[in-house]
Amino acid sequence: MNILVLNSGSSSIKYQLLDMEQEVLLAKGLAEKIGFDESIVSFVNGEGKKTKITKSIPNHLEGIKVMIDALLDAECGVIKTVTEIDAVGHRIAQGGSYFKSSSLVNDDVKTKIKDCFQLASLHNPPQFKGILAIEEVVPGVPNIACFDTVFHQTLPDHAYMYALPYDWYQEDGVRKYGFHGLSHEFVSKRAGQILNRKWDDLKIISCHLGNGASVAAVNKGESIDTSMGFTPLQGLVMGTRCGDIDPAIIPYIMGKRNYSTEDVDNALNKESGVKGISGVSSDFRDLENAAFNEGNKRAALALQMFDYRVKFYISAYFGILNGADVILFTGGLGENSPEMREAVCKNLSALGIEIDLEKNKVRGKETIISTPESKVAVIVIPTDEELVIAREAKDIISR
Ligand code: AMP
Repeated sequence: MNILVLNSGSSSIKYQLLDMEQEVLLAKGLAEKIGFDESIVSFVNGEGKKTKITKSIPNHLEGIKVMIDALLDAECGVIKTVTEIDAVGHRIAQGGSYFKSSSLVNDDVKTKIKDCFQLASLHNPPQFKGILAIEEVVPGVPNIACFDTVFHQTLPDHAYMYALPYDWYQEDGVRKYGFHGLSHEFVSKRAGQILNRKWDDLKIISCHLGNGASVAAVNKGESIDTSMGFTPLQGLVMGTRCGDIDPAIIPYIMGKRNYSTEDVDNALNKESGVKGISGVSSDFRDLENAAFNEGNKRAALALQMFDYRVKFYISAYFGILNGADVILFTGGLGENSPEMREAVCKNLSALGIEIDLEKNKVRGKETIISTPESKVAVIVIPTDEELVIAREAKDIISR
């Protein structure tokens, strides 16, 4: 059974084709700069054969056509006809309060995804375009919508409510939704397998740390709190996003600098985080280089602020969960930065957390990095959101 997984952004489409009998990757690719004169489409088949095309791709529909052509290509392609695609799984950022599980796309599901546009104006519209494009290019294939918010639908109301006028929640849907759910669920389940324990017996603090970053408290298989909120802006310090701030800063700075809502939204989402503090980059590799090799003080401060906020959430969720069995590190940074993991886990011995600095030297490889004496297992687990989506799609079409 072959499942195509799509992750559509505003100007890009990431895709993978997986054979789900064996869970092996048949091909993957990326269409970038959609809507620009020179769009770039790269494609790698399962044998590692790479192709790169530069051409104008005006919209997502054309992007999907180019992608399907690459999959069918006589030389580097991996399928002979589109009938070899059994289902398409789509990553959808925001499912609002509508979706408590992944869903087979029908008219009702499409209406609800569109209803959520205003809650995720950057993410849901291009992801929805991906569904429409597949309906046109591969008619009849089942489309499955997999939401980043579903895993957090188990949050209790005292965790997801904001202390704001109640009708903002009732009439405008203002509440915490949480994101990165596909990843937090994947690594939490994997932790159970690694420790040879049922994952839904464990208390887990899952740290997904990449350009976007969030921590989730997972109690016996259910997310009970998470650091992202109404949007992916809340919580940790991120690459370019500010995370938690005093909301009074917003009207203050708008008045002071004569900013529009768009200006301030842009500043909080794109000019803040470690990029805003350091003035160097949003990429942690550049920051670590600037801080550790060039003595750049603002880069060092940005890293310290990032580490501090992760430690802050781990400590808070330790209390919320009344102890933890496991702390997980995943995401581009969580998987690849021993320096960050060391800084976050330092001085947490009061919580029974001790990591082995030698084992912690790992990058991108599943590894238990805690000492045998540590009361809490600390594990690095590479995430695989595409595999989660493909599994969900397989599960739904097999029912
Ligand atoms: P993601 O959004 O999960 O793809 O993660 C991207 C982030 O991971 C970027 O900011 C990178 O700087 C960071 N990252 C990736 N590889 C490394 C590495 N080897 N060392 C430090 N940070 C890394």
